[in-house]
Amino acid sequence: MTRARAVASLLALHAAGAAAGCAQVPADRAPAVRALAAAVRLVPGWAVDTAARVGDYTGGNAANPVPAVLAPWRAYLADRPDSLHASPHWSAAEQRAMPAGAEYDLTRGYVFQDADWSAGTSISVLDVVPDADSSAWTVRTLFARVDSATRDVRPLAIVRTRVVREGGRWVLASPMPAALRGWRRESVGRLRYVLAPGHAFDRARAARAAALVDSLARAFAVAPPDSITYLVASSPDEAQRALGLEWALPTPGRAYAPNRFLYSANPALGEFYAHELAHVVLAPAVRETTPGMAVEGIATWVGGSMGRDFRALMREWGAFLRARPAVTPTGIARGAYDFDGGWRATGAILFAMVHERGGMPAVRALLDDLARPRPASDNYVRQNEVVLDASARALGMTRDRLDAAVRDRALRYADGR
Ligand SMILES: [Zn+2]
Repeated sequence: MTRARAVASLLALHAAGAAAGCAQVPADRAPAVRALAAAVRLVPGWAVDTAARVGDYTGGNAANPVPAVLAPWRAYLADRPDSLHASPHWSAAEQRAMPAGAEYDLTRGYVFQDADWSAGTSISVLDVVPDADSSAWTVRTLFARVDSATRDVRPLAIVRTRVVREGGRWVLASPMPAALRGWRRESVGRLRYVLAPGHAFDRARAARAAALVDSLARAFAVAPPDSITYLVASSPDEAQRALGLEWALPTPGRAYAPNRFLYSANPALGEFYAHELAHVVLAPAVRETTPGMAVEGIATWVGGSMGRDFRALMREWGAFLRARPAVTPTGIARGAYDFDGGWRATGAILFAMVHERGGMPAVRALLDDLARPRPASDNYVRQNEVVLDASARALGMTRDRLDAAVRDRALRYADGR
């Protein structure tokens, strides 16, 4: 594989992970979607006893608790789990304890990615298992795409959900508190580290991360969170299991900005996952209307991406562009290529160029400009165009000059300048 090809595939790989890994909270969906969500079908697997009564032959003839335990899960899935909203089916105590806008279901972005998530998705309950004292239950559910023609099954995730008693009824709850029992705690500055069993804490890296939080907050003139909970795991599988995903597409790092929570599952970064930290700290400077290219661009500029810092990333991306004279930021923004093309690298370099021209005041002004309310759009091409237009204005150039200017800057990065 040539270097340029390697970069292209890495960019594509990261974008695939990041589409989920760095997603913003989607805007509330139109009421029309409700009807669609109501069609959700929960299929009990072989291990799930759905009979109304159990124990007939012993004379016990007791009511089977499984249907009642499954009821809140079924209701939750039918109530637009793709959109963040208060849920009567989820523990009220857990929802109350969260900061405003926080995710109570940490698996949401992995499984319920858009309003029509359930279309073509088969939902199979694998098992429903009580705790030793039957006070709470664990439900494991397989979400899979099934091709109606070939019957090919492509698993999306296996989700582990807790069902607990609250106010005299069954409700859902996060499996994370139980999963993190036995994980070690360490505090450094504003960071509250939670370390997977066996992880050797790197205090020097943690100190760098804590310093980054403060310096980012100063540079962007935002109030830093009082505390940030930072999970460190040795693999995406280990981190995602703690969140309640028995299995899912591996994502090496993920920030839940409103929760002031992130996980790092890339041992090369460990306690210093600058990109995801940036998402958490810079959250006050972005809005739901801020285009994804800018959200990822700013985090990539200050925190790097794919395990590389910004400079290393730019050297690769500059070399990639040099090998492909026809590739332009406009083409990338419009999705004109059969590879990802680096829209996050494009977003990052735009902020770097604006910084070179006008310093942090210009960067903050660009972020403000991009956060301005505008009609919500699911059209990512239009959103990308918003970023290019605003960046050209911030750079004091016309849009048709922007492509050449970005390419020129990227090639100088490739030369180490
Ligand atoms: Zn990101």
